This record gives sequence, structure tokens and C-alpha cells, in this order.
Amino acid sequence: MTDPRTALVTGAARGIGAATALRLAADGLRVAVLDLREEDCAATVDAVRAAGGEAIAVGADVGDTDAAAAAVARVVDELGAPTVLVNNAGILRDNLLFKMTETDWDSVMSVHLRGAFLMSREVQKHQVAAGWGRIVNLSSTSALGNRGQANYAAAKAGLQGFTKALAFELGRFGITTNAVAPGFIATDMIRQTAERLHLTYEQFVEGVAKDIPVGRVGQPEDIANAVSFFCSEAAGFVNGQVLYVAGGPKA
Ligand code: NAD
Repeated sequence: MTDPRTALVTGAARGIGAATALRLAADGLRVAVLDLREEDCAATVDAVRAAGGEAIAVGADVGDTDAAAAAVARVVDELGAPTVLVNNAGILRDNLLFKMTETDWDSVMSVHLRGAFLMSREVQKHQVAAGWGRIVNLSSTSALGNRGQANYAAAKAGLQGFTKALAFELGRFGITTNAVAPGFIATDMIRQTAERLHLTYEQFVEGVAKDIPVGRVGQPEDIANAVSFFCSEAAGFVNGQVLYVAGGPKA
């Protein structure tokens, strides 16, 4: 094993990605903190460094072919070849079908599906060369269907198929691919949903928590813990799985 390993976490300026970057750094990995704007990654990078870890900030749109390639090349140069990839970057463009625009559809597909594809295609070269790798894709309970989220549900279900296809293709190279499907996690993304439903953030969270078996909404760290497991040495025989982390069972 090359020690320490390098992880690349997309959409890591805030929310689940930031918590995951911090957690992987605590697990002993160097972490590339990637988000749309390099300057937005500073808080996560500072938090990793303050905790004694090593991190760099990388600005890139994961849905852009050249930007994705350049981002991975920078990580190789400045931190080491990435063998752990967490495809976490995400956006919402919620609307009921009859009001959903082509732009709403295409932008969600570009970040979630095209972004995970481009980043995985770049990173797998380094994983294959190392004979070891971990890819974790962020799906969602919305993959099971959700009103107002035809685009997002399709993308998150698509990521589950993508995960299983990579598990078949890359397993022989020592690379595992798994997905974490979060339920309701308290992040800025949820604020957008509360606004769409004309609720305050607090009203929304309180209402949702009542219907979650563990009686609370999730925190970004709940997801980071699951990602950490999939990225660990110990998870080498776990491949192509979708783990719902939602405070209760999901189909
Ligand atoms: P968030 O909105 O707080 O953070 C997402 C990050 O992704 C932002 O920093 C954003 O700038 C970045 N990003 C967006 N487009 C990008 C692009 N093209 N290239 C690079 N970075 C980009 O969201 P979050 O709640 O932390 O969600 C993280 C992931 O988890 C997403 O994939 C989301 O769909 C998924 N998820 C979240 C929840 C939830 O309840 N919060 C539930 C299920 C799944």
C-alpha cells in the first residue's frame, strides 16, 4: 500500500462533501477538496489542516471534460495519484414535470451523471496503476422516486446502475465501487427544498424528523461515516452495493 493514500472528494466545499473530506483526512488520507470555485474550498481545507491532515483546494466543474481532467492532473502533481474518489457534487433543479425545463433536466444530469462518469474515468487510470481503489457515489433515497424530482430521481437511480457497472468492470483491478444513498441530511441543499415547499428550514426539519424511525434528521457526518467504511481497507469485499443511510429502512 502507498501510504498515505490520496482521496478526491467532489462538491466538498460544504455539506456532506466537506464532512467526508474531514473524515477521510482523519482516517489518514490526503484529501483533494474539489468544488466549482477553488476559493470556496478554503474552509474545508483549513479544517482538515487544523485537524493535522493534508489537503489542497481544487476548482472544477465535474461535468466539464477538460476541467475534470485538469483537476485530476493537479491532484496527481500536488498531492499524489488519487486512488479514492467520492462523487458527491450535486445540485437540485426541482420542479413538477409539466414545469420542468430542458435546462433543469440537463444541468442535473451534467453534474450527477456526467460528472461521476468523467471523474471516475480520470481517476480509474491511477487506481488501475496502483492495483487498488475505492469509488463511492452519492445516490439518494430520491432514487426510489420523489414528487418534483423527476430529473434528480432519474440521476440518483442512474448512479446506482453506474455503481454496479463499475463494480463489474473494475473489481478485477482491486477497485471497489459502492453507493451511499442518504435520506434527509441537514445541509444547505435542504434549504432549497424548504423554500420550494414554502416552509421555514426549522418547520421543514421538524416535520420530516417525525417520520424518520430514529426520530431525527441526518447530519453530514452520518454520511461521511458510511463513505469512510466503503473507502477503508476492510471493505475490500464489499462491491457494487447501495447503502441507504436514512434513519430507517428503504426499499
Ligand atoms: P450541498 O448543496 O450542500 O453541496 C453540494 C456541493 O456540490 C456544493 O458545494 C456545490 O458547489 C458543489 N457542486 C455543485 N455542482 C458542482 C459541479 N458541477 N462541480 C463541482 N462541484 C459542484 O449538498 P449536500 O446536501 O452536501 O449533498 C451532497 C451530495 O449528497 C449530493 O450529491 C446530493 O445530491 C446528495 N444527497 C444529499 C441529501 C441531503 O439530504 N442533503 C440527500 C440525498 C443525497
